[in-house]
Amino acid sequence: MPELPEVESLVRLLRPHLVNQIIAAYEMPKPLHGGYQIADLMGQRITGLERCAKLIFLRTPGAAAVLHLMLNGQLIYISADGRTRLAGGHPGPDMIAELPCSTTRLIIRFASGSRLYLNDSRNFAHMELIPADSIPDLRKRKRYGPDPLSPDFTADYLQIALSRRSRTTIKEALLDQTVAPGIGNICADESLFLAGIHPARSSADLDDVEIGRLVKGIADTLEAGIRRGGSANEARGSVKETRRAQQQVFKVYARKGLSCLRCGTPIERIVIGGRGTHYCPKCQRRTAPN
Ligand SMILES: [Zn+2]
Repeated sequence: MPELPEVESLVRLLRPHLVNQIIAAYEMPKPLHGGYQIADLMGQRITGLERCAKLIFLRTPGAAAVLHLMLNGQLIYISADGRTRLAGGHPGPDMIAELPCSTTRLIIRFASGSRLYLNDSRNFAHMELIPADSIPDLRKRKRYGPDPLSPDFTADYLQIALSRRSRTTIKEALLDQTVAPGIGNICADESLFLAGIHPARSSADLDDVEIGRLVKGIADTLEAGIRRGGSANEARGSVKETRRAQQQVFKVYARKGLSCLRCGTPIERIVIGGRGTHYCPKCQRRTAPN
């Protein structure tokens, strides 16, 4: 699933090309949940492209199309002359395929002649049209915590948020969108490694120093992911190629059995809250420091 870094880098990539485009027509070659609502935006000028958690807001003066790419969704922009092609979201061969392709669900055509394609092989992606002034309500309805890239995502905030979750592990707490919206499995494992915190520790047990390190670990992980164009963008080839590429990029994720880059101990994989979790048993101790 595209995590915060993929969605953020996609939004940054597409924004200069989409803002000021006029939505002229659309096609839905395959079903897309809520996709038909795009009809209400015909003739509208795009005024902004924003991210909130893993959601993408395509804004017009009166309304916003809220897109969630879910597990396999991807967006691809192609300029009128076909020379510019920009893709993001879930990596896969359709990013470079001729479009529309078998997974194309929505095509938005702009007055300029350029197009935006939404591909999804699984039909989990969805769209919701909301009035532009109700974006704050949507954030409230989803109960999102402050965005991990915003200045509000501080150690003080995280301490309070975690203290309310005494019965969950820190790994599960980080995946809770009301705590850290947009953080996914990869970001959580990488951030906990950078902070030297065992993923199965109780979220309420962390001390101030550890929470400070965790906030920094999250910031560093997200920044590195956005710089690369998203954590999962290595995953373009076969399963084996993807794994090898991920092992070169990540510090613990997908590195089970390989040496810890810090101490040489083999990385372990356990399951926490149903999610595969990678950590170094030496750098990330189970017991709290004294
Ligand atoms: Zn280690």
